[in-house]
Order: sequence, then structure tokens, then C-alpha cells
Amino acid sequence: MAAKAPSPSQLDEIAALLPHDALSTDPSDLATYGRDWTKVFEPKPSAVVFPRTTEEVSRVLAYCNGHEIAVVTSGGRTGLAGGAVAAAGEVVLSLARMTRMHPVDVLGQTVRVQAGAITESVHQHCAEHGLTWPVDFASKGSSQVGGNIATNAGGVKVIRYGLTRQWVLGLQVVLANGEVLELNGALEKNNTGADLRQLFIGSEGTLGVVTEATLKLARVPQRLDVMLFAVDGLQGVLDLFAEARKGPFVLSAFEFFTDKCLARVQRHRTVRAPFDQENYTHYALIEAEGQGADDAELETWLGSLFERNVVLDGVMSQNSSQARSMWELREGISESLSATGLPHKNDISLPIAALSAFCEELDGVFASRYPGWEICLFGHIGDGNLHVNVMKPDAMSKADFLAQTSDADHAMFELVRKHAGSVSAEHGIGLLKKKYLGYTRSPAELATLRALKSALDPRGILNPGKILD
Ligand SMILES: Cc1cc2nc3c(=O)[nH]c(=O)nc-3n(C[C@H](O)[C@H](O)[C@H](O)COP(=O)(O)OP(=O)(O)OC[C@H]3O[C@@H](n4cnc5c(N)ncnc54)[C@H](O)[C@@H]3O)c2cc1C
Repeated sequence: MAAKAPSPSQLDEIAALLPHDALSTDPSDLATYGRDWTKVFEPKPSAVVFPRTTEEVSRVLAYCNGHEIAVVTSGGRTGLAGGAVAAAGEVVLSLARMTRMHPVDVLGQTVRVQAGAITESVHQHCAEHGLTWPVDFASKGSSQVGGNIATNAGGVKVIRYGLTRQWVLGLQVVLANGEVLELNGALEKNNTGADLRQLFIGSEGTLGVVTEATLKLARVPQRLDVMLFAVDGLQGVLDLFAEARKGPFVLSAFEFFTDKCLARVQRHRTVRAPFDQENYTHYALIEAEGQGADDAELETWLGSLFERNVVLDGVMSQNSSQARSMWELREGISESLSATGLPHKNDISLPIAALSAFCEELDGVFASRYPGWEICLFGHIGDGNLHVNVMKPDAMSKADFLAQTSDADHAMFELVRKHAGSVSAEHGIGLLKKKYLGYTRSPAELATLRALKSALDPRGILNPGKILD
């Protein structure tokens, strides 16, 4: 039997398990905590619970499991796949009050935090020790550590540090039946069979609720140089990437965006155009980590880019405020597209070696499916990750737009499959990408994922309908 919404008397019983202020049925809480950033689903939870401790999470889950009540775990609700959406009377379990951070272990370079800690607060907490948790992206001021772990978040530093899963040493997880698992503690090495911690990372709240984590930390780099270039088309971006891989620095970010993205950011925020000449079409942002003694080498490298026409224009930050302004052009894109129109978003990835051929064929899909439409392309191209955003034409109804984009998604995902890519690089599957999962995962993989779900959550109470039906 499928997990269901609680009855009013069951809600009273859940409330009685918690401190007096920990359950809300206030309509504004239901609207706020029943949705994520996707904003395409109508939030309709029955209630929101705000536990403060792992023990309280365990009590709620044990009760809901016993009564087959559906639960949606909610983090900072910045997710872009509908994973935290509660649209069918579920109980939302919000980690918003579980924000405690323990002191940083400077020798071990770790910190233990509750899952509701905001990503940026963790950065600030560690900064005074010259350390950081290198999970970094535009929504870090709202996203939570638990949400980052549940989505195995990527971001702008993946090329340097890898995904979130590489920066989680230990996890505390509450299973659907309320049992608490402590996985791996603060151990760097622990070769005692399958690593259960990794099962929960990226599982989008469908296998357990992350309540605490021991995070691995990295040293804050001594010096970061940010450079912005105008290049000739997507091939120009890829040519510059090949050069950056060989540059006299450690590559800490390689991002790109098009003129259409830049125009939307300029419409939404007061930012200056990066170059006097305004007819460039493609831009690449490079962040380079150096030691402070290699200016001459960096200048030689830059000079050779211009001499060989690898770049059309370029500028390097002279101070941290200029570096921030350059980053703002890239990091303001997601927000600006949503603020100035209705984007249909896709977040795909390809093997780096297949990017060039894929993009050429993708142009063909755009030309045939969306003649004259505005396509905003940007992303973490150094990781093979493209964010493909199709903007709704002003004259078209929302319903027509959604029908046409859904149709074109199939054509794009066929190309993704052909080039052995992924239909979701970093945003996850949630509700939005569920029907496309089979383009990237084989039937045998899907069967294994289903077997895992039934083993860990046999009554299907955790985030029902997300990732898999
Ligand atoms: C402007 C903007 C830029 C972004 N840029 C990036 C980017 O560069 N890279 C990237 O990867 N993502 C990006 N995102 C997406 C989003 O910020 C990440 O997916 C983030 O990790 C989600 O964290 P959250 O706390 O908001 O999770 P939520 O949206 O609240 O939840 C996401 C999923 O995790 C589950 N979940 C949440 N907390 C827990 C928990 N404690 N235990 C178990 N399950 C849980 C939810 O049920 C849901 O399925 C961006 C979003 C925005 C709005």
C-alpha cells in the first residue's frame, strides 16, 4: 500500500511526540515549506514539523512508518528538481532548526554539524582557521548541508575539489523505521566492507534522513586570480579550456556563459558590461589558484592566448572586489533568468571528450525545434556540465511552452544518451526529471535502485514518488 497523508487525529499524535512549537499547519508555513526553487508544483503538505534533535526526527519517522504516512524531508528548498516538493498531503520534515555546528577540529581538518546548518554558515565557521568546506555555488546562503549531501551537490569548484560526496567523512542518518545509523565517524580510512554512507549521498531523501555530518575541510587557497575572456563560439570555450588545463596554476573553476545570459543578468542587476565591445557571444570565467610568486609565468601564458587568437578579449581581477564582480556575472544567471522570464531548465553532462560533437548536434535540435527562440546556455563546462535554459517567448502561453519544451527534451536526451552523458549533472532527479531517468540508467541499474529502496524503506514513506515511482 502507498504511504498516505495523515488524518487530523494522527497529526495530533505526531504533535504530542514533539515540543509544543514543533508542528505547524499555518497556511504560510505549508506554502513555504512545501516547495523548492522549481515553483512549478502546487505545495499541499498536511503539516510541517521542525525537530531540533536526531531523537525527535527518529520519533516522527517511527510513528509515520508505523502508520504509513508519507514524509518529505526539507532542507533549504533551493533544489531545482522538485525533490523537496510536498504536493500530496505529506508531512514535511524540516531541518531548519537543526543548525548546531561543533568547534572545528583543526588538526583533523573536520567539523561536525547538524544537517540544517546553512552551507555558507559552515564556510564562515571554518574561515577563521584558514579552512573551508569546498562545496560552493550561488545558493549557498540558503541551502543546507543536509540538502547538499542529499543531492550530492556540485557547483563552481568541482573541477578542483570534486563533488560533495568527496567531502563527507561521517554521516548520521535516521532510517524510515526511526533507527539511527552512525556511519564512518571521522575516519579517513575504514575498509570494512561496502561504504553505506555513500548510499545516502545523492539519494534525495528517499532512503533516510541525514541529521548530522562530519565534514572534511580543505585549506583556503592563499591566492585566487579570476579572469574573464570573450571567445569565438563554444569551440572557442573548449579551446580555451584545453589551454587552461595546461596553464601555470591549479585550475579552481572554469565556467562559461553566452551573451544572452549576460543580457538577462544586466536586465536584473546593476552590473557593468565586462568589455567595451559588446558583440561577443561567448564568455569563459577562469579562477586560478597560485602561490603568489608566479606572476611572470601567468603573464606569459596570458600573452600567448592573445598572440595565438585563442581569446578575443580578456581581463584579470586586480583585487577581491573585481573578482567578486566577475563572479557575479556568472553566479547571477540562474536568479536573473527566473526574475526576467520563465526558463525551461535542463542540467546535462557529457564526457569532456564528447562535448564538441554533442554541442554541434544540439545546435541542430535547437534550430529545428526552437527557431528564433532565446536559448540561454551556461554552466560548469570544465566538468562537462551544461545548463540549457529555453526562455518562454512572450507571446506564447505557459501551457504551449511546456508542451513544446517537453517534446524537445526527448530529442535532446536522445543525443545525451548517444554521447553517454547524463540527464542530470548535479540538480538531481526529484519529480522533474523522473521520466528521463532511463536515458542515463540501464534497466538493471533501475531494478537495483528499486531493490535498495524496498530494503531501506519497505513501506515507501520517504519522499514517495521522487526519483522512482
Ligand atoms: C541560484 C541557484 C544556483 C544553484 N547552483 C547549483 C550548483 O551550481 N550546483 C548544484 O549542485 N546545485 C545548484 N543549485 C541547486 C541547489 O542549491 C542544490 O541542489 C542544493 O544542494 C540543495 O540544498 P537544499 O538544502 O536547498 O535542499 P532542498 O532543496 O531542500 O532539498 C533537495 C533534496 O534533498 C532532500 N533533503 C534535504 N535535506 C535532507 C536531509 N537532511 N536528509 C535527507 N534528504 C534531504 C530533499 O528531500 C530533496 O529531495 C542551485 C540552486 C539555485 C537556486
